[in-house]
Amino acid sequence: MSKKLHITGLSINELADFVQQIGEPKYRAKQIFKNLHERRALDFDEMTDLPKAFRQNLNEAATVRTLKVESRYVSTDGTRRFLMKTHDNYPVETVYIPTETRDTICFSSQSGCPLKCDFCLTAKLGLLRNLTAGEIVEQIIVVLNDVYGADATPHGTNLVAMGAGEPFLNFENLIKALEIMADEAGLFIVPNRVTVSTAGIVPKIYEFARLEKRPNLAISLSAPTDELRDKLMPINRRWNIEELLRAAKAVEKTLRRGERFTFEYVLLGGVNDSDAHARALAELLNKYDLQRVKINLIAHNSAEPLEYHPPDAGQVERFKKILESKGVSAYVRRPRGRDIYAACGQLAAKNAPNLVQV
Ligand code: SF4
Repeated sequence: MSKKLHITGLSINELADFVQQIGEPKYRAKQIFKNLHERRALDFDEMTDLPKAFRQNLNEAATVRTLKVESRYVSTDGTRRFLMKTHDNYPVETVYIPTETRDTICFSSQSGCPLKCDFCLTAKLGLLRNLTAGEIVEQIIVVLNDVYGADATPHGTNLVAMGAGEPFLNFENLIKALEIMADEAGLFIVPNRVTVSTAGIVPKIYEFARLEKRPNLAISLSAPTDELRDKLMPINRRWNIEELLRAAKAVEKTLRRGERFTFEYVLLGGVNDSDAHARALAELLNKYDLQRVKINLIAHNSAEPLEYHPPDAGQVERFKKILESKGVSAYVRRPRGRDIYAACGQLAAKNAPNLVQV
């Protein structure tokens, strides 16, 4: 177990305190920060603009990398899934999703997840532990280095906190990691290029709405009635749909010009995908007068041992059309990386022998 300080999770001010503690001038903090986050250095020896003796001191007191990539899978659609281990051996999964216009990195906020969404493979792991801010940032750096190489600076990378875990149950570390990544001296991934997805931790939705520099929000809804949502997403028994949509309404009031927020709706064949469900969903949003929202429809991805099935493709279209006919914007999210267990609800540290590592 590493006893060294994981320097990747320090803000620039914390870095300044740290370098002073080891007897160096404060300005060194900015040099280190740039090396870590802009140049994405893999270790202190790569930071050749620092004196050698200082690099040795750093090596003794701190570490740059703590995640170990155990497997890397590349889908036929270009999606890449990284299965990593923390220094204390907990699984971390991160997915890179390229499209013609932009790249998205889907990162994990926890190892495993304590929530028990019935349609999600990650739920089967339970909560293993919260990830540190450094481990969250490091996931992004690992992926960027893999995709772009160490030198190139990526443009237009989006981040989504939709990997393993409930981000709002690791709120402080999540926000700290996002602040580090937004710094223009480093990765410079600003909040409006980040989306955080919650299963519905209502008090944290209010806290999130009050953040000065707030990322985009997605709320996973997946059922239009409490009866069904209690079963599919047991967090609903703690905060029901009414409480959730009141919180959503509070977020709506804080939206920037042109911004909307998202409800995610996982369509499970024969369970929550009927015409009646679509009508009930539209009525629900209209009842709370939620206007600046859109619904992302996500067809369930089969993953054993889950017993749910993907919806019929024609029914997905009908569902979308019903929502639209009632004034609700709806989009069908194209599944990515299904063949490598990288798609929504499939992240569960799966290292199956039939998967080809690249
Ligand atoms: S869907 Fe998200 S919140 Fe629910 S169990 Fe899976 S990882 Fe956790």
